[in-house]
Amino acid sequence: MRLKLSHTGTLNVVVPRGVSLSDVEAFVVSQSGWIEAKLKELNSQACQFTKPEQLNLLYLDESWNLAYLPDAKSQTLKLRVNGDYKLDCSGRVDDADLLRKVLGKWLKHKAEQVIPKRLENLAERHGFHFNRVTIRGQKTRWGSCSSQKNINLNYKLLFLEAAVVDYVLIHELCHTIEMNHSRRFWDLVADCDANYKQHDKLLNAFSRTIPL
Ligand SMILES: [Zn+2]
Repeated sequence: MRLKLSHTGTLNVVVPRGVSLSDVEAFVVSQSGWIEAKLKELNSQACQFTKPEQLNLLYLDESWNLAYLPDAKSQTLKLRVNGDYKLDCSGRVDDADLLRKVLGKWLKHKAEQVIPKRLENLAERHGFHFNRVTIRGQKTRWGSCSSQKNINLNYKLLFLEAAVVDYVLIHELCHTIEMNHSRRFWDLVADCDANYKQHDKLLNAFSRTIPL
């Protein structure tokens, strides 16, 4: 058996055929020291936030250059579009949490203008029905789908190329029918996206490049 911890904090256990669930549980428990050490490492990496100089939004084919205008006296942080693909951040720009929040809000707004529409198109094309779509800034997930067929999508999808975003949307749409990652689920995904395996790989590779 093998453990894999993604940089987003998702723990995967690779289990050979025929191993019982209780053996898997015992194995994971036996590795708790390793898991804790790795999580600590991840957290300290997450704290090292550097102000992004550029937001490369592959999905929109837009590359934004950021300028920082610090003002120690300011209580707020403001964004202002300053010409073509230039974004001025002024005020408390060294407050990492605030900067992340404000940039996140800006990205959320941009994502809301394109991603739900794309989800609707794909649902229609492949015959899926969903209830509601919400754009959020989850830390560790690209998307999720509830049993009520409500789909949540991450605004950080804007940093990915279109084919990979489509894969994420199709993945969540397939969960409206199969609420698991069974063989039937992946067959359904493959019907809608013949290159899903490659896109899933790219998704993991891209995850490391998101600046926020
Ligand atoms: Zn899934």
